[in-house]
Amino acid sequence: MSTEKTRFLSYICPRCRQSVIVERDVFALAAAPAHIKCPCGKSELSVEFMPQRVRLSVPCVYCGREHLVSCPSHAFLRERALAFSCTASGLDCCYVGEEGPVYAATARLEQAVDKLDQAPDPEEERPPFLDPMVMEEILSELRDIAARGGVSCACGSKTWTFRVNYSSVDLVCGQCGAEMRIPAATADDIDDLCCKTSLLIRGRAGT
Ligand SMILES: [Zn+2]
Ligand SMILES: [Zn+2]
Ligand SMILES: [Zn+2]
Repeated sequence: MSTEKTRFLSYICPRCRQSVIVERDVFALAAAPAHIKCPCGKSELSVEFMPQRVRLSVPCVYCGREHLVSCPSHAFLRERALAFSCTASGLDCCYVGEEGPVYAATARLEQAVDKLDQAPDPEEERPPFLDPMVMEEILSELRDIAARGGVSCACGSKTWTFRVNYSSVDLVCGQCGAEMRIPAATADDIDDLCCKTSLLIRGRAGT
């Protein structure tokens, strides 16, 4: 639990593709809606405190649209790092939290976005995955963990299915339908999964 009085917020500008990372006083954030602009002036992240929740409008570097996301106020104020992701791609689009984790997560997102820029034009035939090598590794790790009976759900169920997305894999509980998203965009995502012996589906983070 953090007791810091400021929060770091970050996103990547869909127009000029630079990372926007700012530090904001939590009381100032709670007092009035904040608009965090990219220096290029063409995108802005807005943050608004509601009674129990914080609502954010995030410019998405992947799809170019604004994503409206929200999380409980206590999570916004205390989590070391919160990630909000693009509903279309599964890629993260915004981070909130402490300085270190937010900078680290943003650097990883920059790597993923770099790959995106190298990917062929979406009008042309797009590969089914952001990085087919990473996806292959992630799926084979999942298969190993599954073979050991390492996947379960907080509801007690051990039956599950999965859905493969462009840059992530969702594990879905066969009983209660809870989901867990495994990112599959960068080499770090493989490292993260490799060090896990079991996976517990807990439902969607922050809701
Ligand atoms: Zn910009
Ligand atoms: Zn998006
Ligand atoms: Zn379940």
